[in-house]
Amino acid sequence: MTNKYQEPAKPLNPEQTRAWLSTYARHSRIYAWGFFTVVSALIFGLIWWELGEINEDLIYSFAFSILIFFLLAYGSRKKTTQTWTGNIEKMFMKKIKNRGADGSRYITYSPIAQVRTQQGKKQTIRLTQKLYQYFSLGDEVFTISGLDWLEKTTLDHGERVCLACGNPYQQHSGQCPRCGAPEPDHTTLVQWAKK
Ligand SMILES: [Zn+2]
Repeated sequence: MTNKYQEPAKPLNPEQTRAWLSTYARHSRIYAWGFFTVVSALIFGLIWWELGEINEDLIYSFAFSILIFFLLAYGSRKKTTQTWTGNIEKMFMKKIKNRGADGSRYITYSPIAQVRTQQGKKQTIRLTQKLYQYFSLGDEVFTISGLDWLEKTTLDHGERVCLACGNPYQQHSGQCPRCGAPEPDHTTLVQWAKK
């Protein structure tokens, strides 16, 4: 293509937003199962290499490892595949104790938001420093299955959150300046989260 006057990115319309959400959810599913398959094959290879032959022991150890791995993967995935709406009840800095490579101890702080969902459940969400500034106590927020970040139901400032990477950016930019994800239609997102 010789067209060097590239059109600026435009925000997605409602229909494109719904298509983007379904594709995103599908890709995250394919990615999760692909990862599970690759690691399972590695575990099988490792046990085989350990035992030197394929026998009953191999099958049992393999089945057991896969079961444990599946439960872990399923549990952590369930956490990121939830769709809900709620209100921020509490915001605080969580103290985290670390230990350096030389054995020295040091403390870091991680910004946290606690959300009470409309179903009455408490959700603890890790934020970035930028998002800690972006959200306020009492904000109504939502999260969509397959996407990792929170967003406000009502965008009360000029900014919005990129649901793919968590970066706040100016509304109507057309895409996230950090990761390039398209700018979805906000009303459609809110409807999607509440359906
Ligand atoms: Zn982004």
